[in-house]
Amino acid sequence: MLPVSPAATTSLYVLLGCPVAGNPTQEMIEAAFAAAGLDGRYVSLEVKEAALADAVRGLRALGVQGGHVTVPHKVSVLPMLDRLTEAARLAGAVNCIRREGNALIGDNTDGKGFLSSLSSLTDPAGKSTVVIGAGGAARAIVAELSLAGAARITVVNRTLANAEEVAAAVGAPCQAAQLTEPWTVPANAEIVVQATTIGMGDSDAKLPLIWTEGPGIAADVVIAPPRTAFLRDAKAAGRQTLAGSGMLVEQAVIGFRWWTGVEPDADAMRDALIRELGAEAPVG
Ligand code: NDP
Repeated sequence: MLPVSPAATTSLYVLLGCPVAGNPTQEMIEAAFAAAGLDGRYVSLEVKEAALADAVRGLRALGVQGGHVTVPHKVSVLPMLDRLTEAARLAGAVNCIRREGNALIGDNTDGKGFLSSLSSLTDPAGKSTVVIGAGGAARAIVAELSLAGAARITVVNRTLANAEEVAAAVGAPCQAAQLTEPWTVPANAEIVVQATTIGMGDSDAKLPLIWTEGPGIAADVVIAPPRTAFLRDAKAAGRQTLAGSGMLVEQAVIGFRWWTGVEPDADAMRDALIRELGAEAPVG
């Protein structure tokens, strides 16, 4: 591989996704660069699936220092990178890239971001947890819940085979279950995570869940709208709730720290996200 000249002054970071319109990551990261006084720029780039390999070659040629990968590239980018972290390998998906010399390293910070957000309410160690969904976000969360010592993780999904694949990849204490219609949330589940795409962009859309009154925590990964029907129903059934925007900020914090070695101003990032999502966004 040809050596790449280091960036002249400004360090460039990018988001590769399709679509990228409405993705608030650029605003959060640029706010963090400004607050830290670092000469860095972050640019959202719309890259179609067929162009991903060329785009990654472009990152190498241009000396881009890192960035994020989002839908639909989180899995297809894997073979284009030089190394993966353990979290990316377990999740089978990459959402964050860092350049080390001429090598591009793929990590998955979604699960760590979720855990960091969850830590404002509880520690999952020894807890009985349910994760609804078996896509990229669910897989990353299940992997980190397992590493954090959750006592039991039930992965519930519309397509059972996908839940079984996640459970097999992560191993004990994970088990797969079929998402039936309706599906009764186990009364003894201490943490319930909604990690499907249901609720994205539609505050009334929800899975057909039956809640029984009880304590515990319900977390949604959906970022917008901030108050999903899942969270409203869970709250009505007595659960403490956690919105997906907190996870988004935390995974961006983790990525920024990994790229720069500098602790970002998380408040500046939260403020930038609230500006993007609107004043009602419950970030935390
Ligand atoms: P994927 O496409 O990888 O997975 C989608 C999941 O949703 C699958 O489990 C799928 O089930 C399920 N699903 C889709 N439609 C239905 C339906 N009609 N009924 C039941 N289940 C359904 O998506 P991601 O995992 O990448 O993203 C999931 C969500 O997480 C999105 O809303 C995304 O924005 C959010 N996210 C939030 C982050 C944050 O920081 N807050 C970070 C990353 C993602 P099946 O297997 O049966 O198809």
